[in-house]
Amino acid sequence: MKNAQCKKCLNKFYKKDIYTIQQFQYRKTPPYNWTLEFFKKLGIGEWDSFYEKCIMVYSKKSNDVWKNSLNSIL
Ligand SMILES: [Zn+2]
Repeated sequence: MKNAQCKKCLNKFYKKDIYTIQQFQYRKTPPYNWTLEFFKKLGIGEWDSFYEKCIMVYSKKSNDVWKNSLNSIL
Protein backbone atom coordinates (compact mmCIF):
# COMPACT_ATOMS: atom_id res chain seq x y z
CA MET A 1 0.00 0.00 0.00
CA LYS A 2 1.24 3.47 -0.84
CA ASN A 3 0.90 5.03 2.57
CA ALA A 4 3.94 7.28 2.80
CA GLN A 5 3.50 10.85 1.67
CA CYS A 6 6.26 12.99 0.22
CA LYS A 7 6.34 16.33 2.02
CA LYS A 8 7.44 18.17 -1.13
CA CYS A 9 5.12 16.98 -3.91
CA LEU A 10 2.49 15.52 -1.56
CA ASN A 11 2.17 12.36 -3.66
CA LYS A 12 1.86 8.99 -1.97
CA PHE A 13 4.58 6.38 -2.24
CA TYR A 14 5.63 3.02 -0.88
CA LYS A 15 7.59 3.35 2.32
CA LYS A 16 10.62 1.64 0.79
CA ASP A 17 10.82 4.42 -1.83
CA ILE A 18 10.96 7.14 0.79
CA TYR A 19 14.05 9.03 1.89
CA THR A 20 14.78 11.52 4.65
CA ILE A 21 17.45 14.19 4.96
CA GLN A 22 19.25 11.82 7.35
CA GLN A 23 20.89 10.27 4.31
CA PHE A 24 22.85 13.52 3.92
CA GLN A 25 24.95 12.63 6.93
CA TYR A 26 26.93 10.42 4.56
CA ARG A 27 27.90 13.31 2.30
CA LYS A 28 31.42 14.59 2.63
CA THR A 29 30.22 18.20 2.24
CA PRO A 30 28.35 20.14 3.37
CA PRO A 31 28.75 19.02 7.01
CA TYR A 32 25.64 17.39 8.43
CA ASN A 33 25.21 20.10 11.09
CA TRP A 34 25.12 22.71 8.37
CA THR A 35 22.68 20.56 6.41
CA LEU A 36 20.35 20.28 9.41
CA GLU A 37 20.37 24.05 9.87
CA PHE A 38 19.74 24.61 6.17
CA PHE A 39 16.68 22.35 6.15
CA LYS A 40 15.43 23.72 9.44
CA LYS A 41 15.11 27.09 7.72
CA LEU A 42 13.02 25.39 5.05
CA GLY A 43 10.81 23.83 7.72
CA ILE A 44 12.16 20.35 7.09
CA GLY A 45 13.17 17.98 9.87
CA GLU A 46 15.05 14.71 10.06
CA TRP A 47 11.89 12.62 10.07
CA ASP A 48 10.12 14.17 7.09
CA SER A 49 9.53 11.82 4.17
CA PHE A 50 10.50 12.53 0.59
CA TYR A 51 10.36 10.66 -2.64
CA GLU A 52 13.75 9.95 -4.22
CA LYS A 53 13.37 12.59 -6.95
CA CYS A 54 12.35 15.24 -4.45
CA ILE A 55 15.17 14.48 -2.02
CA MET A 56 17.58 14.74 -4.95
CA VAL A 57 16.31 18.25 -5.67
CA TYR A 58 17.02 19.21 -2.08
CA SER A 59 20.37 17.49 -2.23
CA LYS A 60 21.41 19.63 -5.18
CA LYS A 61 19.90 22.79 -3.72
CA SER A 62 21.70 22.45 -0.39
CA ASN A 63 24.94 21.64 -2.16
CA ASP A 64 24.61 24.73 -4.37
CA VAL A 65 23.91 26.99 -1.41
CA TRP A 66 26.85 25.50 0.46
CA LYS A 67 29.19 26.12 -2.49
CA ASN A 68 27.90 29.68 -2.92
CA SER A 69 28.39 30.43 0.76
CA LEU A 70 31.99 29.24 0.46
CA ASN A 71 32.52 31.41 -2.60
CA SER A 72 31.22 34.48 -0.82
CA ILE A 73 33.74 33.96 2.00
CA LEU A 74 36.74 33.46 -0.30
ZN1 LIG B 1 7.92 14.34 -3.72
